[in-house]
Amino acid sequence: MVKFKLKQNDSCSFCSQSQDRKHLFHGCVKVREFWKKVENQYEPILGSVPISELEALTGYDPNVSRHTLRNFIILCARKFIYDNNMHGKELDATLLYSVVNNYNKIEYKIADESLKIRTMLHHNKKWKRWSDIIP
Ligand SMILES: [Zn+2]
Repeated sequence: MVKFKLKQNDSCSFCSQSQDRKHLFHGCVKVREFWKKVENQYEPILGSVPISELEALTGYDPNVSRHTLRNFIILCARKFIYDNNMHGKELDATLLYSVVNNYNKIEYKIADESLKIRTMLHHNKKWKRWSDIIP
């Protein structure tokens, strides 16, 4: 599990309110707007099930979904929120697409170079619905 370390300065760079882990990934008004955009943009993969508080805070909610790509997008989104907050950048949901798509390309290349049909089938199964997403 990835452990996120918060800044020494305990105010949120998105909204200037005091920050803790819960604020950073779920409570912040800017982060809530971001999650709404993610839900809309990735609806073909996420379905109509909203991203739960537990998913936003931990990346996984056993009561919501065991869908691999949904979990992966949320994990990438959490790292994206963390990185942007640490570097004082605004959250631009449109930039998340290229982050996730780069992982798609890397995993494809690894599967392709493995020369194992099972590895490529696994890749294709995980990323099957990715082409439904409009960048
Ligand atoms: Zn904030």
